[in-house]
Amino acid sequence: MGTSPDLAAFPGQSVSSYDVTGRLGTDYYAVFADIPAEDRAVWERAQAYIDEVGPAMRAAWDAADYPMDIARRLGALDLLNDGIDHPDLTRFSPLAAGLVNMEVSRGDGSLGTVIAVQGGLALRTLALFGSPAQQETWLAPIARAEVPAAFALTEPDHGSDSVSLETTARRADDGGWVLRGAKKWIGNGAAGGVTFVWARVDDEGADDHAAVRCFLVEQSAPGYIGTVITGKGALRGIHQAHITLDDVPLPADAVLPGARTFRDASTVLYSTRSGVAWSALGHATACYEAALQYAQQRTQFGKPLARFQMVQERLAQMLEELTAMQLYCRHLADLEASGGLRPTQASLAKYHNTRAARRIAATARDLLGGNGILLENGVIQHMADIEAIHTYEGTESVQALLIGRDITGVSAFA
Ligand SMILES: Cc1cc2nc3c(=O)[nH]c(=O)nc-3n(C[C@H](O)[C@H](O)[C@H](O)COP(=O)(O)OP(=O)(O)OC[C@H]3O[C@@H](n4cnc5c(N)ncnc54)[C@H](O)[C@@H]3O)c2cc1C
Repeated sequence: MGTSPDLAAFPGQSVSSYDVTGRLGTDYYAVFADIPAEDRAVWERAQAYIDEVGPAMRAAWDAADYPMDIARRLGALDLLNDGIDHPDLTRFSPLAAGLVNMEVSRGDGSLGTVIAVQGGLALRTLALFGSPAQQETWLAPIARAEVPAAFALTEPDHGSDSVSLETTARRADDGGWVLRGAKKWIGNGAAGGVTFVWARVDDEGADDHAAVRCFLVEQSAPGYIGTVITGKGALRGIHQAHITLDDVPLPADAVLPGARTFRDASTVLYSTRSGVAWSALGHATACYEAALQYAQQRTQFGKPLARFQMVQERLAQMLEELTAMQLYCRHLADLEASGGLRPTQASLAKYHNTRAARRIAATARDLLGGNGILLENGVIQHMADIEAIHTYEGTESVQALLIGRDITGVSAFA
């Protein structure tokens, strides 16, 4: 049996691997130089966490495995708040919440999506619309990620037009509810926890007939069938579910009293859109920094790639876009902190940042040559994961339509 060869000993094989996944702290315009100490402490907590779990998540992505123990630690470390303002939750400033989204996505997009789902969508829905009793029972366990939580709005037939959702909620004879319908793409939807299901009241003659309400559903309820979606080429380290609701019986107090129209679901989505802009920044930062480090380490034609003019130009173009993304995010946080953030301003940031992140990832992938498709160098995983965040919380075209409606005063959705 042979021992593994010393790679440097063979002509044409002087380097066994490249060291490109380290953090460089790129901040060309000092956008993050004056972060308050309190926010910086949260940021550093996220950095330490992702540095520790990053390698395990790369393996999880490769195996399409959702490591719940790693996801749960986000809660144990109190990193799931996502800027939600509630007296029983730790308060993060919008800046701290953004930095957590950025940093975790810089390390691993699946965990970035755990924050978006468990914190941004599910916890926020409960904090905004839940009854005191619902909050008493579920708020802390969800914030600590002891209970996985999901937000189920999208249906197989209704994605961008989720306003047309068809899942029904009928009043039962015992005063409770019965849910019937289907949901698709639901993060944590088959994780053994709870799901906030958005459904349309089917009760002819009642005041709220056809209104969209939200229901707290334990995933162990009879008729709740959550099936993990397999074969994904992005965000492979978190599971999304296809859910069938086959006459799921619920008690009367399962409805969230504060959620009364589709507009309430939109309020949650508007709030989490900023988080996606920050996540895109995290992905793009990882790709740019990998490209820069690779250009310095990889030699061709007797020189490091970084010595070639075209390579420098491409690095400069990536930095130009990355800096714009950082400025968007920082200003977004400042606007939100001042209470002056309009939903379409968050849309513009998501629109810009996921588009720019795609371009940066594609350039980085190319600059790493064949090594760009190896998971060990990170870029291809980020490139794939950006595709998912580009689509969720409203696609590129939906953001454009929201912005277009705002600036023209005319809706072009249908
Ligand atoms: C990884 C992942 C995680 C997700 N997590 C959740 C979750 O936890 N909970 C949840 O409820 N949902 C979730 N979603 C669903 C997500 O919000 C939807 O995928 C998204 O809203 C788009 O819907 P769709 O995929 O059905 O695409 P479609 O709406 O079918 O869109 C297809 C294409 O048509 C375009 N299009 C649609 N309408 C128009 C129009 N009027 N004008 C021009 N172009 C248009 C779109 O921009 C897109 O390019 C997730 C999705 C993914 C991929």
